[in-house]
Amino acid sequence: MGFNVAIDGPAGAGKSTIAKLAAKKLNLIYVDTGAMYRAMALFMLREGVNPQDTEAVERKCREADITIGYEPGENESREQVVYLNGENVNAYLRTEAVGNMASVVSAQPAVRRKLVELQQRLAEDKDCIMDGRDIGTCVLPGAQVKVYLTADSRVRAKRRFDELFRKGQTCDLDRVQADIEERDYRDMHREASPLTQAEDAVVLDTSEMTIEEAAAELMRLCRERRN
Ligand code: C5P
Repeated sequence: MGFNVAIDGPAGAGKSTIAKLAAKKLNLIYVDTGAMYRAMALFMLREGVNPQDTEAVERKCREADITIGYEPGENESREQVVYLNGENVNAYLRTEAVGNMASVVSAQPAVRRKLVELQQRLAEDKDCIMDGRDIGTCVLPGAQVKVYLTADSRVRAKRRFDELFRKGQTCDLDRVQADIEERDYRDMHREASPLTQAEDAVVLDTSEMTIEEAAAELMRLCRERRN
């Protein structure tokens, strides 16, 4: 097993931004598992599958080949690319519709089995930081570092609102917060691997922290446990 870092937490807590920063500085591979669930959601949306229909999801799920690769990104970083049946689908994953569908589809055990297996294979022989909802509890229970990253839901909504605003999309802050809270509720109350804090996870509340402060704390933990 390589050196594994597991980051879990609710939507918008800053998991991917912080994990990416730390991955680059510590020379670890960053694995965004949410993007894999989003790719599966995109497939179900394109195929018109009802995400609540367990049998239909299980059947369709077998037709979705999801793999990841890495391409050179900004500032000499390596960007994760998700391929859905050979197509690079990164450009379609970050919409609210796909995010909400991902939260429904990811409650289906067949989807989780398939993607957890892929994630465990990726971490087997590589030093990586993986983020998601069930990494410390289910995917990598033996990870050397486990962090539960969270923040107040208003703060998380504001971050998401600002991100959408920067992309030129207008939206309503209360609506964004309601969507985030609904997604958290689904992720925390589903039967299959709900979002919970692993017993041995360190909790980092980023409500009043900058990205740099949170990344510094994560890197401190990694350096401490890597030696
Ligand atoms: O992290 P992100 O918002 O991209 O994840 C999209 C959805 O995928 C989450 O709301 C969650 O329902 C699901 N997910 C999951 N397990 C993971 C990662 C994401 O169930 N490890």
